[in-house]
Amino acid sequence: MLRSLALLLSAVALQITAPVAAQPQVLNIYSARHYQTDEALYANFTRDTGIRINRIDGREDELVERIKNEGASSPADILVTVDASRLEIADKAGLFQPLQSAVLERRIPANLRTATWVAFSTRARVIVYNKAAIDKAWVSSYEDLAQPRLKSQVCVRSGSHPYNLSLGAALIAHRGEAATEVWARGLVANFARAPKGGDTDQIRAVAAGECGVALANTYYIARLMRSEKAEDKAAMAAVGVVWPNQSSWGTHVNVSGAGIVKTAPHRGHAVRFLEYLTSDAAQVYFADGNNEWPVVAGVPVKNPALDALGPFKADALDVEKWAPLTATAHRIFDRPRWR
Ligand code: FE
Repeated sequence: MLRSLALLLSAVALQITAPVAAQPQVLNIYSARHYQTDEALYANFTRDTGIRINRIDGREDELVERIKNEGASSPADILVTVDASRLEIADKAGLFQPLQSAVLERRIPANLRTATWVAFSTRARVIVYNKAAIDKAWVSSYEDLAQPRLKSQVCVRSGSHPYNLSLGAALIAHRGEAATEVWARGLVANFARAPKGGDTDQIRAVAAGECGVALANTYYIARLMRSEKAEDKAAMAAVGVVWPNQSSWGTHVNVSGAGIVKTAPHRGHAVRFLEYLTSDAAQVYFADGNNEWPVVAGVPVKNPALDALGPFKADALDVEKWAPLTATAHRIFDRPRWR
């Protein structure tokens, strides 16, 4: 009896003193980003930590649906995606868990992180205009795009696209819902054509004179600026780029970011990976892979196109304040049928 008790006790002691079963050295990342430089980003993490990365690439909405469908048994640890409105959708769907990391809090500015996801790079939404057709002074703000003098001049992609919904959310945050609806109506009234294509198509249409002005994210502009193709060089020679709202609330800035999935099987590794993404070296890879800016202050940007675009005043509003307004922006844009 005594002996079996002793055995039992030693078995209990063994259980207690044995190390907690280590997490398998893998990390499952669902990513809607697929750039060449991301390969180095992942390889360096594995080299530094021994944690192997399984990456599932897909479109943003497909990955969100996939995690939802996989439910509690989802292998997903991290969802990486672009645009705050998409991160907001994933968050609203309950896909993320609360993020707590002193490193993330120290490295990422407070206005670029939320309780459940953080930004790792930024991009701005700017105005592109045809230099031969439009006076630059006419397009110094987003609000200007709704002015009647730009009748039949505006080219822009669908109003239901996240990039425009995020801009709409920022407008609502700064100007209110009523003013944003008036703006959307004015903008639609100024369309040169029904929305079609992506931002690059709008830039090309402006260069070709099919429209006078367009909205585009900076990385599309930087991509064309760095292109060696003659047609791209000609297009960029024909257009000017404006940092909107420099004398008011600043240019709207969006993000690429990530959050840890609520059911993440390898939570510890996931936190470690997100922290790794804020290291100086990873920040350069992450941002420059798509001609974006790092979020960590002081990380050097060596991107000739972004340098050429020059410095600007960014909207400093907390992403946590404006990202939840994207659903309202969608309703508002629907009314004048900006689809
Ligand atoms: Fe894009």
